[in-house]
Amino acid sequence: ATPTAVMVGMGNGARRGILFRNAAALEHAGRLTALVLDKTGTLTEGQPQVRSVQGFGVSPESVLQWAASVEAGSEHPLARAVLAEARNRTLSPLAVEAFVATIGQGVEAHVAGVGRIRVGVPGWAGPAPAEVDAHYADGLTVLAVARDGQCIGLIAVADPLRATSVEAVRRLKEAGVRVVMLTGDNAATARRVAAEAGITHWQAQVRPEEKAAEVARLKAEGHIVGMAGDGINDAPALALADVSFAMGTGADVAIEAADVTLMRADLVHLADAIRLSRATLTKIR
Ligand code: ADP
Ligand code: MG
Repeated sequence: ATPTAVMVGMGNGARRGILFRNAAALEHAGRLTALVLDKTGTLTEGQPQVRSVQGFGVSPESVLQWAASVEAGSEHPLARAVLAEARNRTLSPLAVEAFVATIGQGVEAHVAGVGRIRVGVPGWAGPAPAEVDAHYADGLTVLAVARDGQCIGLIAVADPLRATSVEAVRRLKEAGVRVVMLTGDNAATARRVAAEAGITHWQAQVRPEEKAAEVARLKAEGHIVGMAGDGINDAPALALADVSFAMGTGADVAIEAADVTLMRADLVHLADAIRLSRATLTKIR
């Protein structure tokens, strides 16, 4: 590998908004054979919108206000969706105490005068009501809201596929890369997003440490593994991958640790990064 060719490759990348941390990052990207993708914010737009709010024994407004009060402490894209919807309905967050975030599951806190409120994966936030399945059938992400362990409401959220993800996956597969989607979200929504994107290998309800375990498994199979993710929940898998990709729009922790940063949140740029790296390696052999 001549350092000059690699420097030229890195420069070409930088001009297109593809930032390689160092020469090793480019070399690994050029040899990559499997790519693990997070769903939310990587394949999807990552700007989820609240579609409906339901209350069980309490008003939808209360459900939304209490959920927003807790989510005010979270940086998750779903938290931003809940806060935006509360703002639209002119509901102000209430004071909370003892906030705890459980990565890949949800958040909880004590809301003044209300009780212990949990917002997150149905099941984790309290026994899931039957209404959840109808939302899953629509391909929506569902946040359950529980008060003192009892489910008091549901917030259904839509996060559409990024328009360019289909083209990107097609190009990656054409390049012989095994594409795998891993998400903490539910299976029905994951299935729909994977099908829309043209991804045949996927897993749902995957916890952060399980994302990392899948990267390890692919490496053990002999793959050179890339991982693209945008969240704190992706950090263990990103750290274990041979080459990690971060979207310039993601969580700061993901960007700081990434081998390759894509300035534009567009997976076509990831396909470009691999093609450019391969071309660079071919030149120097
Ligand atoms: P992904 O792998 O798709 O990026 P995450 O691992 O970040 O998803 O989250 C998995 C699931 O955990 C989400 O679909 C959501 O149900 C729940 N969750 C995570 N963080 C939050 C939060 N701040 N508020 C509500 N639910 C959350
Ligand atoms: Mg994510």
